[in-house]
Amino acid sequence: MKISRFKKSHKTLVFFATNFDYREPYQVLIDATFCQAALQHKIGIEEQIKKYFQCNVKLLTTQCVILEAEALGAALTGAITIVKQFHVHKCGHEGKPVSAAECLKSMTKDNRYIVASQDRLLQASLRKVPGRCLLYLHKATPVLEAPSDASKKWVQKRAKNLMLGKQADKIEYMKEKQGLKPTEPTTVNQKKSKGCKNPNPLSCKKSKKQKPILHSVEQSTLSKAKRKRVKIAAHVKAALGANQ
Ligand SMILES: [Zn+2]
Repeated sequence: MKISRFKKSHKTLVFFATNFDYREPYQVLIDATFCQAALQHKIGIEEQIKKYFQCNVKLLTTQCVILEAEALGAALTGAITIVKQFHVHKCGHEGKPVSAAECLKSMTKDNRYIVASQDRLLQASLRKVPGRCLLYLHKATPVLEAPSDASKKWVQKRAKNLMLGKQADKIEYMKEKQGLKPTEPTTVNQKKSKGCKNPNPLSCKKSKKQKPILHSVEQSTLSKAKRKRVKIAAHVKAALGANQ
């Protein structure tokens, strides 16, 4: 197998494993159309699929698949022989079988199965549901189909929601950290008090006017203190009195 083909299928498997909980051993649900195509191209299904995935896989089918193939008659004899080789998984339709397509669709509802089929209607139907994984034969080559648009959209939407949730959490955290939570009224008061602590430059003019007053007060107190301290000699007093 070419390395690029392996890389492609590996990438698809990683996508389904990461986003839709597909786990090893990967379970492959095989129908009669897939077996018929394998027979036509003379390939051994088990051998080819194991070679293609290069990991643990479990090949399964259901009673409904076998019964439908048997009902179609002699043309599918070879395919019936092949499909009967796989483990018959319980499908819940025991005693009241449904069509193979209906059966495989219902099987994929709650469990992670890779559906191996050449049924185009079944493929189209499964592509519309996010998380469905398809395997088909392109001539003699197994191909794990790249994720459908429905699967990709589902993943993108989930990623977007996760990101939005994380961003909202981050914004709330930042708001809390910087004290910018608008719902708390105390912050308004804090802002006002901050304003008082840091007056704008215009308020400095007021201080210029106030300064002389303060200065004169200081001076007067100083002069008073000086007056208290300085002892004026009697003769000086007399002289001053004489001058005045
Ligand atoms: Zn069934």
